[in-house]
This record gives sequence, C-alpha cells and structure tokens, in this order.
Amino acid sequence: MAVRIERRAGLVGPVRKELSHKLIWLWLLVTLVLGAVGVVAATTYADIAEDVNLSGQLRYRSFAVRELLNHGDLAATAAGVAEMTAVRATLQRRHSDAGYFTEHGFDDYWAYVQRQEVPPYDVTLRHVESADRFTSWLASTARVYLRIAFAFFIGVLVVLAVAIFKLVRINSRLAVAEANLQQLAATDVLTGLWNRRKLYETLSEAPGEYSVVLADIDNFKNINDEHGHARGDDVLTMFADCLRRLEGCKCFRYGGEEFALWLPSTTLRDATAFAERVRREIEATPLAGLTITASWGVAQWHTGDTSSSVLERADRALYRAKHAGRNRVATETDVPRSKRATA
Ligand code: GH3
Ligand code: MG
Ligand code: MG
Repeated sequence: MAVRIERRAGLVGPVRKELSHKLIWLWLLVTLVLGAVGVVAATTYADIAEDVNLSGQLRYRSFAVRELLNHGDLAATAAGVAEMTAVRATLQRRHSDAGYFTEHGFDDYWAYVQRQEVPPYDVTLRHVESADRFTSWLASTARVYLRIAFAFFIGVLVVLAVAIFKLVRINSRLAVAEANLQQLAATDVLTGLWNRRKLYETLSEAPGEYSVVLADIDNFKNINDEHGHARGDDVLTMFADCLRRLEGCKCFRYGGEEFALWLPSTTLRDATAFAERVRREIEATPLAGLTITASWGVAQWHTGDTSSSVLERADRALYRAKHAGRNRVATETDVPRSKRATA
C-alpha cells in the first residue's frame, strides 16, 4: 500500500507542476488587466470613432493645402494623399468647427487654384485626430491596448493549448501507470499468480455460491534444505504454472508454499472432486525434477459468510488433511462441527 501511495505522488507531481506553471498565471493576470482596460478604452474609442469617421472620411480639397503651404509642410502634401493628422491639427487650431472646411474649405481652395496660387492637390484626411487632445489620446491608447490585449489573449490560448495537450498526455500515461500499479499490487512477484490481497478482494466482491480450496505443499522445508532455496523457488513457480493452467477457477498465492483456488458457482462436492483431480495431477507431475505432493482443504460459501470465515474453514480442513497424513483432500465437513468457524 505504501508503494502505491508513493508512486501516485510521484506521478501526479508533473500535473501539479504543469497547472501551477507561473507563466500561465502571469499570462492570465496580464490579459485580465489589459482586457479590462481594453474594454473600457474600447467603449470610449467607439464614441470617438464616430467623430473620427464623420470628419476623417470627408475629403478636404483643399484649404488644407493652403494651410500646409503656409506652414511649410509641402513635402507631405506633395504626395497627393497623406495621413494628415498634422494637417487636421493645424486646421483645428485655426478653425474649431470642422464643418467650416466642408462648407467653405473647398471653395476657398478652388479659388486659390483658379488664381493659380496653389496647385490642385488632392488631400485626403484619412486619420483625423479629434479636436479634443484628450479624447484623441484615449482613442489611440485604446487601440494600442486592444492590440496588446489581443496579442496576450492569443498567447494565453497558445499556452493553454500546450498545457492541455501536455495534461492529456500525462493523464493517459498516468492511467497506464495506474493500471500497471494495480496489476503489480495484486500480483505475486515470484509466481505471477494473483496474491493474497487480490484473493480477499475477489472473495469480498464475489456474489456468493462459490467454493474455496487451499493447498499447502508437503514438507516443502525439506526441499529448501536438501536442494537449496533456488530449487524451492522453481518448485513454487512450476506448482503455480500447474494451477494457472486449470480451467474454471482463479488461482492465488496465499503465502509461502500455500495457494488458493476460487471456484465460482461451485458446490462443496464439485470443488472437492476438482481438488482431488488436481492433487493427483500434481503428484504425477515432477516439478523441477522432484515429486511434489500437497495437502488440500475445501470449503463452501454459506449465507452470512465473510471472506475470512470461508478461508478459515478451508484452512481448518487443510490442517486436517495434513494431520491425516498429507497428500490428500479434506473438506470442511471433515472438521468437527465445534471446531468449524462460523463467523
Ligand atoms: P508441511 O508439510 O507441514 O506444510 O511442512 P512444510 O515444510 O511444507 O511447512 P513449513 O511451514 O515448515 O515450511 C514452509 C517453508 O516454505 C519454510 C519457508 O522457508 C519456505 N518458503 C516460504 N516461502 C518461500 C519462497 O518464496 N521460496 C522458497 N524457496 N521457500 C519458501
Ligand atoms: Mg505452510
Ligand atoms: Mg507445507
């Protein structure tokens, strides 16, 4: 259990790191602030835009030119079409009413042209600053803010997309690791069978109407003593292989040289016959070059049983088999009623 918790913490770490990445929070904060400023500024800007559009899109022909000539900014006008905020600013300074230019500007200019005092320049005031310097400043600032906020917004989207991609990848790795871990936690390292914890889990989830068989290799200590621990391991592994090949049951390593079989929907009688068949098979099959026998105890689930109570009865039966001379099968009914566990 401890292993499981440690591993989990190790794997969840990158996810947490990813989420708390300072850059993401910085992007979000800056975007929020700039977004708020942008919204406020945009509202102001919308008002100004109306004004700018109204005057800015009027073509002034070209009192402005004369004004420019007067102010020596001929180079800018000579291009024919100009971005003439300077023009407008100059004009505004002299004539606060923009309408004046639309009504009188052209005629005046035309008179100049006719008298050949100025050339017929065509000046388009595309970006006319507002007469009010403050609202003008607000308008341009709002534009800048909006652009920056938009850039940040796109940036955040990109960062979030990358973060989500990484999270999805980590998550799927986590799911695989989790599954591996579950498998590992439920598997016996030496034999590859399910372990005792898995047995308890299986029994507690089983819908009932099952039997349990416990097997304990006879005189296994002697095998270790006479042939060495490694040979003993081989015997255990091969014993487990024999059990794994059985059909109709799930096999577990219960302890050192003890194994358990779970037989779903099986009566005591059938389970006993099953155990007897396996016992003979084991006896007849040399494992790691040795003839191995085992003792077997069988118990059946009854209403009110817990995993432990069934296993306890199977263990008592196994004990009887040992005491009756080993290499045999005993059932819970062989156990005197007073000694049977009932809880
Ligand atoms: P019995 O017939 O009464 O069951 O006698 P036994 O010798 O099989 O039982 P006992 O409980 O005296 O000894 C079991 C031995 O199993 C002792 C222990 O060293 C050995 N054992 C437990 N786990 C392993 C293992 O993983 N590998 C090896 N090689 N031996 C193990
Ligand atoms: Mg034992
Ligand atoms: Mg034994």
